[in-house]
Amino acid sequence: VTREPVSIRVASRGSREAIDVTGQVAEVVTSWPDLVALVSIDHTSAAIVLAPSDDGMLADFARVAERWLAALRPFEHLEANNPNGEAHVLSAFAGTRLLVEVAGGSLRLGRWQRILLLEFDGPQERTVRILPLA
Ligand code: ZN
Repeated sequence: VTREPVSIRVASRGSREAIDVTGQVAEVVTSWPDLVALVSIDHTSAAIVLAPSDDGMLADFARVAERWLAALRPFEHLEANNPNGEAHVLSAFAGTRLLVEVAGGSLRLGRWQRILLLEFDGPQERTVRILPLA
């Protein structure tokens, strides 16, 4: 197996959105031996998490992202006139790194676990990296 990371692109359409990327990640690892894969994003206003991914759950994530910290606005962080401090806080709380076992060319996930990209400052083109570890 190559030790190079594989990158997949994910385009968010909404400002706050949960996107199931499990299928795209699963395609990457089909030829990999049994190992642990690091699934990560190098972004500070999005996150990558394991959670159920029915339509209601995806809507719930988007709603929480929209309203959870709303009472604390305005946030002090300002970057290129983009007041996205709230998105950075959500990204840091939810996390940007996952470890997932690969076995028999498949992702070893719990019955209800899916890999979700959480967008907090979209729409944007996001990159998810999948790196094979030992
Ligand atoms: Zn910022």
